[in-house]
Amino acid sequence: MSRKCAKCGVVSEIEETFPKSYYSDKIFYCPTCWEKNAVQRGESFLIACVIVLIGGLAWVTVSPQNEFTWLVFQAGLLMCFILILALPHELGHTLAAFMTKAKIFQVTIGLGRVLYNHDFWGIEWIFRAIPFCGYTLIGFNNRKLYRLRSFLVTLGGPLANCFLIFAAVILLFHISSPWLLAVTRSFIAANVFVLLFSSLLPRKVNFAGIITPSDGLTLLTVPFMSELKINQEIEANYVWEVYSYYMKGRVEDARQSYEKGMAYFPDSPAIKNEMGKMFLYLGKYIEARNLFVQLQKSTNLSPVMKNGILNAIATADVMMGGNGLLEEADAFSKTACENMPWQTEFKGTRGLVLVKKGHIEQGLTLLKEAMGKTENSSHKAVYASYIAEFENKKWE
Ligand SMILES: [Zn+2]
Ligand SMILES: [Zn+2]
Repeated sequence: MSRKCAKCGVVSEIEETFPKSYYSDKIFYCPTCWEKNAVQRGESFLIACVIVLIGGLAWVTVSPQNEFTWLVFQAGLLMCFILILALPHELGHTLAAFMTKAKIFQVTIGLGRVLYNHDFWGIEWIFRAIPFCGYTLIGFNNRKLYRLRSFLVTLGGPLANCFLIFAAVILLFHISSPWLLAVTRSFIAANVFVLLFSSLLPRKVNFAGIITPSDGLTLLTVPFMSELKINQEIEANYVWEVYSYYMKGRVEDARQSYEKGMAYFPDSPAIKNEMGKMFLYLGKYIEARNLFVQLQKSTNLSPVMKNGILNAIATADVMMGGNGLLEEADAFSKTACENMPWQTEFKGTRGLVLVKKGHIEQGLTLLKEAMGKTENSSHKAVYASYIAEFENKKWE
């Protein structure tokens, strides 16, 4: 069954790629619109927090005798604390991951535009414009005490909130200023809210279009995790290992992770797919194309991966050039773009193919759109160089 995005009208035959709306099971959005909606909700919440806080603060200053003004001020504080508590919560998961010798790939705080992105302690730290919610991407590369270690890593987040509540309660007994009391009480309330509602309430969470279990649901289910699920998670770990190594330029480490992953899962299309992407990233187009062409013959490919492979082969083709390859790139990138029209990377490849085929105006439009949207700096650089080259040709 196909799904239609309720906002931009794009249609997809690949059902699982369109997450449903927060408010209705019958409304779906494409990943791009879903993220836009989430960012808009986050922005509204951020603005509401600031208004309530500043309004409350002004009101308390004017009439400090009125109990209600303090309530409004504390509500503003509570909302702002909820925003910033994503960071200590995620740090709790990160610390637990460190102690259980998990691989920590990425810590993301917030939604929307990337404000700051830095590699520190071998972890990619990403801070986005709206500091509302976050996630820590971790993995284990072996089965040793898998369920216990996963349980402990999940527990790390809620434990961080418990620790903050405990520290703030102790502080409450040592302060008497009404301002400090208001701040501390709101801080405790915000932690209790995050702990009970955001973290421990057992439910499925829709984060940036990816449905994941809340900490509470994970804690309840992880002790009974099936062997199949454990294998899937270890496989995903190798995919991330290869990706994060080559993105840091550690090609030899990426290759070793690939080989370890292949020894564990000799038929894994996901790990091979990531290795192919590394070859593309390094400009080794012949190796990339060979790997993707071989991978295309696998029987156990998801629709998303099938289209990703078409796009990857088209990328290798267009970079190598030559008429035969350019025709293949044209056919493959067209199919990939039609099947997943919201994919920025696919649009970029389509743009490259079109400019190389002489449809400069059409290709440049797609390249500019892809350059504006992509968060991948190497893609941005490739798009920019082609835009520069073909903008000139337009006038020749
Ligand atoms: Zn849409
Ligand atoms: Zn958590």
